[in-house]
Amino acid sequence: MGDQAVRVAHTEALFRDVNERIAASADRFNARDAEFVCECADPGCAERVPATLEQYEEVRSDGTHFLLSPGHELPEVERVVKQPHRRSVVVEKFNKVVARTVRRLNPRVDST
Ligand SMILES: [Zn+2]
Repeated sequence: MGDQAVRVAHTEALFRDVNERIAASADRFNARDAEFVCECADPGCAERVPATLEQYEEVRSDGTHFLLSPGHELPEVERVVKQPHRRSVVVEKFNKVVARTVRRLNPRVDST
C-alpha cells in the first residue's frame, strides 16, 4: 500500500496542478465557475467536474481536500466530506502517506 499510496498522491497532485491553472485563467476572465478536471487517482480519467471558483477555493483551503467526480473516490485512502453539486464531491485523504504526500506537493502554502 505504501508505494501505491505515493503513486495515488502524485497522480492527484498532478490533476490539482491542472486545476490551479484552470482556476487562474477563469479568474482572469472574471468567470464565476469553471469545468475542472477530476482529481481522482486514475491517471487516465478525463471527467470534468463543474464548480464555482468559490467552491474550488474552499476545496483548496485544505491541503488534503480534492475535487472529484462522484464515485471516483478510492475508499482505501479518501472519504467524501461534501457534495457541492450532483456532479462533484469533495474528498478528504485519511490515509497518512497520501495526506502527507499531497500536503508536501501542495502548490499553496499550507498553514495547517
Ligand atoms: Zn476521476
